Formats: sequence, C-alpha cells, structure tokens
Amino acid sequence: MNTIADNPFEYSADNKRYHTYNHYLKKRFGQKVMKISLNVDLGCPNRDGTKGTGGCKFCSAYLSGEFAGDPCDDIRTQFESVRAKMNEKWSRGLYIPYFQAGSNTYAPVERLKVMYETALGLENCVGLSIATRADCIDEEKAELLGDIAKKTYLTVELGLQTVHDETALAMNRCHTFSDFLAGYELLRRHGVNVCVHIIDGLPQETHDMMLETARQLAQLDLHSVKIHLLHVLKNTPLAQMYEQGEFRTLEMQEYVGIVCDQLELLPKEFVIQRVTGDGARDELIAPLWSLKKFCVMNEIDKELGRRNSYQGIKFAK
Ligand code: SF4
Repeated sequence: MNTIADNPFEYSADNKRYHTYNHYLKKRFGQKVMKISLNVDLGCPNRDGTKGTGGCKFCSAYLSGEFAGDPCDDIRTQFESVRAKMNEKWSRGLYIPYFQAGSNTYAPVERLKVMYETALGLENCVGLSIATRADCIDEEKAELLGDIAKKTYLTVELGLQTVHDETALAMNRCHTFSDFLAGYELLRRHGVNVCVHIIDGLPQETHDMMLETARQLAQLDLHSVKIHLLHVLKNTPLAQMYEQGEFRTLEMQEYVGIVCDQLELLPKEFVIQRVTGDGARDELIAPLWSLKKFCVMNEIDKELGRRNSYQGIKFAK
C-alpha cells in the first residue's frame, strides 16, 4: 500500500487518489457532514405514464431510495429517525437533507418550495441535495433551485446512467442524453451545482462505452459524480433478464479496472461522491461481492496505487 507521502494527489489528505466527497465536505465545513436520505414519494414520470410505464428496468419498488426515510412520515420525522441511526456511528456533525427516492422536482413549484424550505430549516443542516431526472426540470423549477443555491450549498443530482441512448432505450429509461444535457444546462444557467449518477455494467455496454460516458462527463461543468455498479434487485424487470441469462454482471476486478479508468478521465476538481453503490442486502440478487463495499473501495485504492495513477491523469479537454 502506498503511503500518504507517496500520494501526489492534491485533493486528498490520506491515501485516496481521487477527490472524495468526505474530503470535500471536511474542507468546506471543517467537520463531519452527513447526508440524511428522505423519501417524499413524489413518484416518477417513468412509472405513471407521463414519460413511460414500468420504470427503468433496474429500479426497485423503493424508486432507488432503499435507505431513505419512511414516506408515511413527514420530513422532520424522517430526518430525525435517519439521523438517530447515523448518530449511532458518528455522534455529532452537520447534515445535508437528501431528497433521494424518485424524482424530487416532479411536483408543482409551490409544493417543492415548501418541501425544500422545510428541509433547510432542520437543525444543523448546511445544505440540500435533490435527486431527480433532467426532464423534470423546467425554467420555473430551475429558477427556484437557483434562488436556493444562492442561500445554501445545493446540489441537484441527475440520473444519467449512460450517455448511450441505445442502452437507455433498452433499460426503458425514456430519457436520452440530449434530455440530460437540456436539464443540466438549465441548472448551470441558474448557478446550481450538478452531480451526475452513472451506472457501470449495464447490459450490452462494453468497457469502451463506459469510458465514453466518463469522457463526455469530463467535458461538462460538474460539481460531482456518483459511480454505481449495476445491481440486480429482486422483483425488477432486470432480475427477469438476468435469470433468463440475457446478460452477466461484472466481476469485482473488472469493475475496479473500469472505475479506475473512468477516474483517470475525470477532471481532478470533480468531487467523487461514490465509487460503488449500496444495494439493499435483502433485495440484492447479483453481484453479491458488492456487499463488501469497503473491500471494493480498498481494491480501487490499491489499483490506483499500483498504477501510480490518480483522478484526472488522462483528462483531456
Ligand atoms: S427515473 Fe429513477 S425513480 Fe424513475 S424509474 Fe428510473 S431509476 Fe426509478
């Protein structure tokens, strides 16, 4: 293992060779900051028929919010219950409420305003994160988000998953790369930080295709990126495809290699919020190795050390 002294990467205070979210938050706020996942159940246009039905093939009944609060509870109750669980691990810190499950700009602006302001008024909250689809942002919503961004540390998280429209079509995303770019541009025009979610290991995607997704993101003005591994979850259309042998999931070393290649392509200033996803243990069908999240993260650190490489080393404008 390389030591800190060997590490040439400027956005790190440890052995990490990529710009971790922890590092960013500690630098910005001077102490531990925790994201508190909330579920306000606004639904998703890719399930209710507005954009499509059935949802993305990999999305679970929890609308990608497996670890969020209980949607039956109000925002404050959810916040307090998730915070209490986190405080078992870290006794004190600051918080960022995170509207995680579903598409959290998919409601009239008046409702969104109340929702966001309620979250921002919670004790020791220093920012806000909002996950949504880029096609759920319009001028009026971007204006609201722009106003909030002037007052606090706001990040809007857009699910892109891949820049390849053929993959998105096969996954029933009902959303193209140009839809994503339209939402992204609207947000940036209003001064809103954008975080992009991508998934590695989508059916029929080659190594080169996944790297191309990173290359295209590298050209944008992003705040952060979340790199996820494709999880096959129970009771999803993807689970059926998997059981019928239509695709295979990535092996751990394969995934580690892809993530390291992608990190090398992304500018060093981009904050990397995740290098692997959390699949709910009871829901996960494959790949089961991904349950050892710290092992995967260690392998990524080891691989970057072995290459003597770091985030941004291959970034090209
Ligand atoms: S857009 Fe998001 S919430 Fe909606 S179906 Fe797809 S992954 Fe699930």
